[in-house]
Amino acid sequence: MTKKYDVIVIGAGPAGMTAALYASRAELSVLMLDRGVFGGQMNNTAEIENYPGFKSILGPDLSQAMYDSSTQFGVEYAYGEVTGITTDGATKLVNTADQQYEAVAVILAAGAEYRKLGVPGEEEFGGRGVSYCAVCDGAFFKQEDVIVVGGGDSAVQEATYLSNIANQVTVVHRRDQLRAQPILQQQAFSKDNINFVWNSTVQHIDGDDKKVTGVTIKNQQTNEEQQLAASGVFIYVGILPLTTAFQQLGITDDQGWIETNEQMATKVPGIFAVGDVRHKPLRQITTAVGDGGIAGQAVFDYVEAQK
Ligand code: FAD
Repeated sequence: MTKKYDVIVIGAGPAGMTAALYASRAELSVLMLDRGVFGGQMNNTAEIENYPGFKSILGPDLSQAMYDSSTQFGVEYAYGEVTGITTDGATKLVNTADQQYEAVAVILAAGAEYRKLGVPGEEEFGGRGVSYCAVCDGAFFKQEDVIVVGGGDSAVQEATYLSNIANQVTVVHRRDQLRAQPILQQQAFSKDNINFVWNSTVQHIDGDDKKVTGVTIKNQQTNEEQQLAASGVFIYVGILPLTTAFQQLGITDDQGWIETNEQMATKVPGIFAVGDVRHKPLRQITTAVGDGGIAGQAVFDYVEAQK
């Protein structure tokens, strides 16, 4: 028989865990599903220095602490990769490969993932100089030389952010001009310590036995290879929302991000979204947790109204 819950939370990253905490503390029955280990992207993060309450904490340690507190009011936690959600009147049916669950409301907290360059050294030096988030890791590169890969809004915005921290920022872009909005380009061009290398792609990320020492790039027009020294490489070649399983609900924008109102409600009644899956200006643990708190409270009001 299909088990029915007040709320099913899909994804046990910081957003989902916080939503589950608030909803369960309000005495709702909550199932939290994840296709991997609880903690989400925090599991891939070595040191976190911008989560209030901790001067510095390892990602897996924060994951465990959040899991322990989020499950203290009776949240049921289960493994499952959600493949689709359908609605049957007011009831939501959540499908995994081998199970179907029912709920009054669903909170989508599946997160996002950074697109990789796919070059040698990228995986090896992850967390040891290779980063996908300047706001997260920029402070580790004070007065050092860093490389930013990409030419879109994020790459250019983050290069400007890094220019206030690092000694020298070199933007490596595969085309001869940036794709970023003009205002972002102007900001970057006005910085003395940002320089641009055009028509070039990263061939591999170089390092010693401890950390990144630079990158080898290739000019696409001349085929010439060149080594650039740096202690950090920030890769901005795209971030993808993990929303394929929710496409049929019609709640995403043209890039796949889920659109919500301030209560974290989507346009489908009883379906909420929190954290990195949302269309939002800053994807961080603090903002994921904030979304989760709001949704946990909003879902309580929704479930009460259905009684
Ligand atoms: P996620 O953490 O992505 O969690 C989503 C969860 O959903 C995952 O566990 C995933 O397995 C699960 N899931 C996905 N699809 C499905 C499905 N179909 N069915 C079931 N489960 C599913 N932020 C900071 O504030 N400070 C930092 O220092 C920092 N450093 C970072 C370093 C790295 C390397 C990375 C990658 C990110 C970093 N971030 C940092 C960003 C931060 O981790 C994210 O903003 C935050 O984790 C987003 O939380 P979330 O709960 O929305 O999603």
